[in-house]
Amino acid sequence: MKLTHWLAVAATAALVAACGSTTQGGAVGANRSQILIVSEAMMDEQAKLAYAETLQKASSARTLNINTAQTARVKNIASRLIAQTGHFRQDALRWDWQVNVIQEKTINAWCMPGGKIAVYSGIIDTLRLTDDELAAVIGHEISHALREHSREQASANALQNLGISAISQVAGLGDVGSTVVNTAAKYALSLPFSRNHETEADLMGLELMARAGYNPQAAVSVWQKMSAASGGSVPQFMSTHPSHATRIADLQAAMPKVLPLYQNAARGGARTKSAPAQKTQSGVRSFNTPIGQPRR
Ligand SMILES: [Zn+2]
Repeated sequence: MKLTHWLAVAATAALVAACGSTTQGGAVGANRSQILIVSEAMMDEQAKLAYAETLQKASSARTLNINTAQTARVKNIASRLIAQTGHFRQDALRWDWQVNVIQEKTINAWCMPGGKIAVYSGIIDTLRLTDDELAAVIGHEISHALREHSREQASANALQNLGISAISQVAGLGDVGSTVVNTAAKYALSLPFSRNHETEADLMGLELMARAGYNPQAAVSVWQKMSAASGGSVPQFMSTHPSHATRIADLQAAMPKVLPLYQNAARGGARTKSAPAQKTQSGVRSFNTPIGQPRR
């Protein structure tokens, strides 16, 4: 068999093995098939390093969790959302979730692979976010991590790189490993997601907030506020999360699926019970996060 033929067979086998879905669909049906050739462990490891570095910088600049009340508020809302992640994937309840608030005017928030969340005070203060709206923002970001969108992007990028270099590197595969590691590192940091990924995160975030007892209609008002606040300059959050009329229309279209969940949660008191019917309760660390650990 010719070398190129072998490569094609190997690549096909790898792709078949790598196809799947990171989550159960939930009420909103997020079960699109995904190609994931970069490992979850590698993404999580790179995210852990990048997160520690972000916290270290914020700590040095004295911008890490300095507003105690605001940090507690963010942490509380995140905890309630995290307690609902089992509806999409059970293993997420055991993730090492971390939530931190960075005191910066930037209108931004993100969740790195493996549940490493940062919310910038600018998004809360500038947009005067209500708890429901803050839940919409955090729920959206958590959903990117649950669906492992970064890993999907890194996989697509690695496949492309491997395809280009496979023939020349086949004699010694030494560089292929480092290509994948570098790609994972790059995508562990939030790069702009595709429209597909944004829609999924919108819908899943809607379900998470509804199940946690937050009014899903706030997902619409938060985008309206974002767009109103942008004025001449585009906030960072919006530049990576393009706003479209269709986005709001998509959210409205999904309301009938999630409003019953919200009504149910409101009746059942999801706001007061952080993890109903879940044996494993996710712990959320924030204040005593070990930062600046040496890299290995
Ligand atoms: Zn997004």
